[in-house]
Amino acid sequence: MNNGKTLAIPEKGLPRDEVLELLRSFKEGDANYKDSKTWSLVYYLGEEHTRFLVDAFALFFSENALNPMAFKSLRRLEHEVVRMTAWLLNGDDSVVGVMTSGGTESCLLPVMTYRDMAMSKRSFRSGMPEMIAPESVHVAWEKAARYFGVKMVHVPLRSDLRVDVDAVKKRINRNTILIVGSAPSYPHGVIDPIAELGALAQEKGIPFHVDCCLGGFMLPFVERLGYEIPPFDFRVPGVTSISADVHKYGYSAKGASVLLYRNMDYLKHQFFVYENWPGGIFISPALLGTRPGGAIAAAWASIKALGMDGYLELARKVMETTAALQEGIRSIPELEVMSNPEMSVFAYTSNSKKVDIFAVGDQMEEKGWLVDRLQRPEALHAMVTPLHKRIVDQFILDLKQSVEKVRDNPSLARKGNAALYGMIARVPLRGMVKKEVLKMMEKLYGPEMIMPY
Ligand SMILES: *Cc1c(COP(=O)(O)O)cnc(C)c1O
Repeated sequence: MNNGKTLAIPEKGLPRDEVLELLRSFKEGDANYKDSKTWSLVYYLGEEHTRFLVDAFALFFSENALNPMAFKSLRRLEHEVVRMTAWLLNGDDSVVGVMTSGGTESCLLPVMTYRDMAMSKRSFRSGMPEMIAPESVHVAWEKAARYFGVKMVHVPLRSDLRVDVDAVKKRINRNTILIVGSAPSYPHGVIDPIAELGALAQEKGIPFHVDCCLGGFMLPFVERLGYEIPPFDFRVPGVTSISADVHKYGYSAKGASVLLYRNMDYLKHQFFVYENWPGGIFISPALLGTRPGGAIAAAWASIKALGMDGYLELARKVMETTAALQEGIRSIPELEVMSNPEMSVFAYTSNSKKVDIFAVGDQMEEKGWLVDRLQRPEALHAMVTPLHKRIVDQFILDLKQSVEKVRDNPSLARKGNAALYGMIARVPLRGMVKKEVLKMMEKLYGPEMIMPY
């Protein structure tokens, strides 16, 4: 328990090396990404690249991109990252953009920007602004809808897990401020029909954002490797903005994403100016005030050092590893890969009533893997990185054994996490699920100390 003393600031400061030692010790129970046991969260290329990112980050550790006039170096680095990303995604010279703190910020901002743009042109006396997005769209867009008072209108997926364009069309009305598609979607790794959505958006005169947070620094290279990739970027005429995370397949340090608009007519609605603050005239291009220079410098450094040849080689390795993993999964009769994902993120599930996929997840966790669970429908998830190449055989072997164990012990589906996740995924009263999860969050963020020393 936090009795008000144990977690007070120490009366006398501790020696720095002792503090660092404590920090190191806290990592013990963490997800093991260095041995490629995780399937999300970390895009790790090994110690050499990591140390390079740390060096680049450290060079701009104290610098603040809040004021673009104070640190011209950061304005230059941000500008160059934006330009290189616009070029990579086939934007022309009128494409503009900003760097943000991550994918979430790059999804929040367009909702606010397009809302304000719409409101500058027409009134919304009859109902609130609405955005149309696939059910599979990243949860950051739900957050945006809530934060910015925009109604989220979901569109069901086709059987191939891509959004149904006719259903999008049916949901358009005069309050629609934005259509969103993913390239690819986070849950299933499939690309929505971007060309068709773009044509529809253009016909109706509605802004269209492609969430390329995952694909931005991957799909261009997968395409160059000769894989069949449908058009997903600024080549599609109706696309008005794209988000691409450098801290995912750009292999940069966390805290770096790029948000691009087709031209300044859109971006200008995102700018914030307050001219009457006693603290001075304040301008801000994105969500944050203070913006860490390190994340911008590390993103620039990662792109410059890897280069087209580096990214291409990494993409080749990732795609080969993805193919090997999927082949292994398909060789297990009870399992299947969902749909035909275009790149290196995919969902796999059970096609047998005898095998509960969440119970398989539990078994894999006992073997030291950290696998993410999907719901509606239930599945496991993989986001493949270059270093996963080392563990393909072990992973498939463990997966085979896990499936066999679950098949031979049906009661495992009613035990442990499988039972909990299964219950949460299947309860028809979603409001009840939300209430329970909110209670868990209150505990997690409550005043009690949850981690004993
Ligand atoms: C990761 C992701 C996001 C959110 O990005 P964060 O960096 O986690 O905030 C948004 N959209 C897609 C498609 C993503 O994969």
